[in-house]
Amino acid sequence: MSKVMIHPATYEHLGETIDRVFELFPLDLTRKKVLVKPNVLRDTDAKEGVTTHPAVLRAVVEKVVSMKPASLIVGDNPGVMSYGANEKSFEKTGLMEASLGHYQNIGNDSLKISFNPDFVPMVSVSRAVLDADVIISLPKFKTHGLTVLTGAIKNSYGYLPGAQKAKLHKIAGSPKRFHEMVVDVFNLRVPDFFLMDAVVGMEGNGPASPDLRDIGLILASDNAVALDGVMATMMGCDPGLLRFLQKAKEMGLGDYDPDKNEIIGNLKLLNDFKLPPLGGEAILQNPSIQEVLEQRTLLRPVADPEKCTACGTCIDQCPVSALSMAHEIPEVDPEICITCFCCQEMCPEKAIQLK
Ligand code: SF4
Ligand code: SF4
Repeated sequence: MSKVMIHPATYEHLGETIDRVFELFPLDLTRKKVLVKPNVLRDTDAKEGVTTHPAVLRAVVEKVVSMKPASLIVGDNPGVMSYGANEKSFEKTGLMEASLGHYQNIGNDSLKISFNPDFVPMVSVSRAVLDADVIISLPKFKTHGLTVLTGAIKNSYGYLPGAQKAKLHKIAGSPKRFHEMVVDVFNLRVPDFFLMDAVVGMEGNGPASPDLRDIGLILASDNAVALDGVMATMMGCDPGLLRFLQKAKEMGLGDYDPDKNEIIGNLKLLNDFKLPPLGGEAILQNPSIQEVLEQRTLLRPVADPEKCTACGTCIDQCPVSALSMAHEIPEVDPEICITCFCCQEMCPEKAIQLK
């Protein structure tokens, strides 16, 4: 049985919360090589709630340093296409400063290792991930258009540097296969501990939605499947309907059912929580929509002319060149689009809706 802790928290007073978390989940970090991996989607302001908040990272870094590890690296591989966004993303989010000198661009050095040949025989993984004795994952409580939620399991997708993430989106080809591939990436190196920033979460059209939600919690666990199961339950989504959680359970990585885990704290439904367009429970239980998930979803990205600045980022980031600029606004070719939603993730204006 795994444990999930649900603890009230604010960004201003995190020290006591983090102490309590590490009391409940004692980690021996002495003389260990530690990697702390926040969720750094792209270069945004911390107040946009797109990334793990810098106050959470700082509090964890201070705690880890006090536990005398041999070394500490703070790193992630933001973005889906390029290698150049790493420092910029950490700087703009405030995560660079919060790393207290321990930031490293982990995208610069990687190793090729075997992967699930149903997708690709080999993937490159940041060497810092493979070298770490202990990985502490710091996911953010957010929705996601393709996986419904992006929590503890999905945070490990950032093990992959550079354009690989977009290529694998393309190779997966359908949302269902993408769910399954995310678990295979997670399983390359299962982190040792998870501490989720749910002080301010995100609802609606995540993972870069403007709809933020004050939740006021830190969630922590020794098991990602258990933690994501709690997160889904709080969102009002049956975790058993999510393919990535089904697959993780099938692989023996944990159980998403909160009744099968020890919950320390108050597990409450967040009233009227807005799930992403594919995530409503009624939709997930609808067999014809499930069929669509097997193939290609009917959703397509559409740019809002009121918000779009015609910057071209979405066109650059699309792994299959499905977008082109028409009349100063990007338009999608539905025959080419693989509904990976990378364009939505990367749009700096949050101008892309899924329709
Ligand atoms: S990234 Fe966003 S703002 Fe830039 S062109 Fe695409 S939709 Fe418009
Ligand atoms: S248009 Fe957007 S959703 Fe479609 S394939 Fe390109 S990046 Fe993915």
